[in-house]
Amino acid sequence: MKAIVVGVGIIGATIAFNLSRGGADVTVVTDQSPSATQASFGWINASFYADEVHHRLRVASMAAYGRLTDALPALPIQMNGALWWEDQGDGLTALQDALLELGYPVERLDRVDVAALEPELRGLPNEFLHFPSEGVAEPGALAAALLKASGAHVVTGVRVERIVENNGKVCGVETQMGVMAADNVIVAAGNGAPEILESVDVALPMLVRPGALVTTKPIVGTVSSVLVTPNGEARQLPDGRILASAVASHQSDNTSKVVETAEKIAARVLAWLDPLIGDEALEWDSVSLAYRPVPQDGLPVIGRVGPDGLHVAVMHSGVTLAAITGEAVAAEVLGKGDAFEALLAPYRPSRFQ
Ligand SMILES: Cc1cc2nc3c(=O)[nH]c(=O)nc-3n(C[C@H](O)[C@H](O)[C@H](O)COP(=O)(O)OP(=O)(O)OC[C@H]3O[C@@H](n4cnc5c(N)ncnc54)[C@H](O)[C@@H]3O)c2cc1C
Repeated sequence: MKAIVVGVGIIGATIAFNLSRGGADVTVVTDQSPSATQASFGWINASFYADEVHHRLRVASMAAYGRLTDALPALPIQMNGALWWEDQGDGLTALQDALLELGYPVERLDRVDVAALEPELRGLPNEFLHFPSEGVAEPGALAAALLKASGAHVVTGVRVERIVENNGKVCGVETQMGVMAADNVIVAAGNGAPEILESVDVALPMLVRPGALVTTKPIVGTVSSVLVTPNGEARQLPDGRILASAVASHQSDNTSKVVETAEKIAARVLAWLDPLIGDEALEWDSVSLAYRPVPQDGLPVIGRVGPDGLHVAVMHSGVTLAAITGEAVAAEVLGKGDAFEALLAPYRPSRFQ
């Protein structure tokens, strides 16, 4: 069975990896349009969620990451936990109760516990939630490692212009370098997906959701947890720099336009980040802007759609959801997807047709 995966972000890479392991002959095609994966914060979590079913999908993906790291132990993934203090008092208790009800690992910590866990943190409030099962991926490096491990053929710098079908069955993709034949095409093209799908009258309405991140110069000390503060999220990169979101709750941010300059964003982030970490003054290194691939209802779009042999996988929180998406889409392409039916039922592309 010959499959073409369109896109080499984290979603395309995990699908290619699982498909190859399942015995398919896989070719990945990607153009040079911006990839959300390359500019992602990389937090793997289920403490942020839309509803119970969405929470369960995120938890399933965290378990799938365990299977991925068992197979490939050197992947750039660290599950060192997250510390949450977006709110205090009732707000914190409400989230703790909701997560305990869902059976999610959550602990309540005080300032003394947190000072012992993260000695670089300063000016701490009284109460925290600790999510010990969460962590981070270095998303670009993870996608590259999975793609390499997949052994898939890789075609880069080539734009897929449309899906080619014959009598209701996919037979390949038309690219700017001609037609490439395949029995199955998986569109994992992030924000580029709607245009490709339009060629076979498949609708995938999406929101415009820019996200800015600030990176500091490296610091000497070590911060192991993801820090979820009332101002934004922060974590340390492997080279010692701190990566921080420009807004609080960056995963649910719903602004469609960024109006501040990069310097203003950096100054605003440093105003809360600098007093929080270490004793040396933090300096900003870079500011990045990228567009999250967010389907119109905010939820993932995963599964078969349109002509036979066409599959789509487009979502926000794609770093968290990549591991389960890779397993599920590969299983469905290979005709073994029954086990994922209940988990994915709310996320089928048919809801937009
Ligand atoms: C600032 C920011 C912070 C984020 N933080 C988190 C987080 O903490 N946790 C989390 O889970 N998620 C987070 N996300 C979301 C997550 O990064 C994305 O959901 C995920 O990276 C999407 O991966 P993807 O492979 O679907 O898309 P992308 O990485 O965008 O990849 C799409 C690929 O398709 C290719 N492509 C597009 N059109 C075509 C075409 N016509 N022909 C050929 N190739 C094409 C592109 O070149 C690219 O390679 C964040 C995103 C942003 C922007």
